[in-house]
Amino acid sequence: MQIYDTLSGKKKELKKPLFKSIKMFVCGPTVYDTPHIGNARTFVTFDILVRYLRSRKFKIFYLQNITDLDDKIINRARENGIIPEQLAKKYEDEFLQTMDQLGVCSVNQYAKATDFIPQIVVQVRKLISKGKAYKIDGDGWYFDISTFPNYGKLSRRTVEQAEDGVSRIDESDKKRNRGDFCLWKFSRALSDAEVKEGEPVFAASIGAGRPGWHIEDTAITESFLGPRYYIHGGAQDLKFPHHEAEIAQQESISGKHPLAKIWMHVGFLKLSGKKMSKSEGNFLTITQLLEKHSPNTFRLLVFSHHYRSPIDYTPSLIKENEKNLLTIIGFVKKLELITSKKGVDFNVRPYIEAFHHSMQDDFNTPKALAVVFELMNKVNKVWTQLNHVSAMSIRHTIIDLFCSIGIVQLLPEIPESVQKLFEERELSRDSKQFDQADTLRKKIESLGYLIEDTPKGSLLLPKQENL
Ligand SMILES: [Zn+2]
Repeated sequence: MQIYDTLSGKKKELKKPLFKSIKMFVCGPTVYDTPHIGNARTFVTFDILVRYLRSRKFKIFYLQNITDLDDKIINRARENGIIPEQLAKKYEDEFLQTMDQLGVCSVNQYAKATDFIPQIVVQVRKLISKGKAYKIDGDGWYFDISTFPNYGKLSRRTVEQAEDGVSRIDESDKKRNRGDFCLWKFSRALSDAEVKEGEPVFAASIGAGRPGWHIEDTAITESFLGPRYYIHGGAQDLKFPHHEAEIAQQESISGKHPLAKIWMHVGFLKLSGKKMSKSEGNFLTITQLLEKHSPNTFRLLVFSHHYRSPIDYTPSLIKENEKNLLTIIGFVKKLELITSKKGVDFNVRPYIEAFHHSMQDDFNTPKALAVVFELMNKVNKVWTQLNHVSAMSIRHTIIDLFCSIGIVQLLPEIPESVQKLFEERELSRDSKQFDQADTLRKKIESLGYLIEDTPKGSLLLPKQENL
């Protein structure tokens, strides 16, 4: 299994550690708003990859943090006149609920920043004692990036370039280097108004205050995974400064490197060619997506793009994936009509191997999907002549392969009432009552299903709304 590592710029072999799990951490959401389809892309992607690896007998411990303490949360809470805790809880619940709806269930452990304040303080203290952190009076503790020569390695930036992407909490004109980032912000640095409006403050030996963003993650990962682990993942825009800062912090604390053996970054998602932006109305939440499309459709869309490539989400793109999913379902259902013991054999093995071969090459999912379509094209030419055993083995193969990437239930359940109408229609046809058969067909169609007549019999299939 080869995976591209952003840090080295090379593909690396993912080995199965003996008797141990592969430790993996993915940067989770900052819970200050309704999750959008860009978030969905990242987390569905990692869900696909982890599920696939597990199906190939890799044992994985998958950890994800939830940033429930951050400037964005504080600002949004202030706008809404509520305390940050309340706002974070609301969006955390919403996030977990939408993940559930999307079928993202591969995460073993979610960890919230506010549950790790003591661990964060311990990390800051270690950095102070090693001379990596310095204090700005009335402001906070900062990491001195000049003490970490490898700063910028992941994102391929120099220390001089390290100044963009600095958030409000990191701003101070008293910093030693412009790219230095805040580890701990003193509460007395905040104005009275801010404290009054519920800005969270934690008592600590390093001074009452609250943590910076990057230190949340390393405190959480060190707690669960230790100072080094196998895979660190996240969205591409976190590479700098967030992941760079994580490396600097944790490697400075432990003196061990690398923090992670493999760094994985998922590509962006654009909406109709533009960066998603709520203020400009170019925005789609996960809930809005799922009102119109099934989780399986979205998962297929994600799967049809390489995880490192960008996705340009458009209404026609999701429609195209819906059509593809219906084609796959129709194909699988069709094979169920093959009951004869006699007929031609079909060897599905080479296709299974080609699928895994593509997946094992840095999760080349578009290629893996192309293998499935190639198999379907080949089979379509001969399907009526197949024997039952071959037809079933192709059917199982398709179902299994999709199950391995989290499309667990490829075939939607059809309500009994619709199934009954379908059977009645079959009987009407057999007894040549074509008018009645036609009426039943129309009724079935009005319920969101359709009938496809094939040389081997009729198929009852879902329409897009019943995927
Ligand atoms: Zn993170």
